[in-house]
Amino acid sequence: MHVLTGRWPRDTGTHHMTFNFEAISDILACPKCRGELVYLGDSLICDSEEHRLQFPIVDGIPRLLVEESVTLSDDQWDRLKNQMEPTS
Ligand SMILES: [Zn+2]
Repeated sequence: MHVLTGRWPRDTGTHHMTFNFEAISDILACPKCRGELVYLGDSLICDSEEHRLQFPIVDGIPRLLVEESVTLSDDQWDRLKNQMEPTS
């Protein structure tokens, strides 16, 4: 299991941008499986139970790189699933 530590590479001197997920969600896909991504908090999650990849959004820019993704644990995955699908 990977643990999210350290800092992500970031550009200096860039202005903060508003990340409009809905506007670009159609063109976003998991770089590993081309599957759908779910926008959650400050990250994007591959909606594939097989991968459980979480991609960070840094300064409003999604970093869709497998190398920068985090593989979620069973526990984290369960919690995220609960957030994605509110209990009815
Ligand atoms: Zn995937």
